[in-house]
Amino acid sequence: MNCRRILGSLTDYLHGETGVKVCEEIDRHLDGCKKCRIHVDSMRQIITLYQRWRDDTIPKDISIRLKQVIAEEARKADARKPRKASKTRKRPKR
Ligand SMILES: [Zn+2]
Repeated sequence: MNCRRILGSLTDYLHGETGVKVCEEIDRHLDGCKKCRIHVDSMRQIITLYQRWRDDTIPKDISIRLKQVIAEEARKADARKPRKASKTRKRPKR
């Protein structure tokens, strides 16, 4: 499993909708991948908040929204990854 696949199945994972096998693979990946672990943590927090507010299941649109956020984050992470060993350009300061 790579990060992209993990991120793709995260909402299902957090909803407990993934199979045991996939869950284990995700757990194993999270053990070794800090980036994905951060994603899971923040998503868990969001979901916990929603559950506290609504005291029932998470509405479907939050899943869709989360998926969009994750896709966006994955894209950003990809863009940040140096493609080739090109000379370092000046980085924008934050
Ligand atoms: Zn990862």
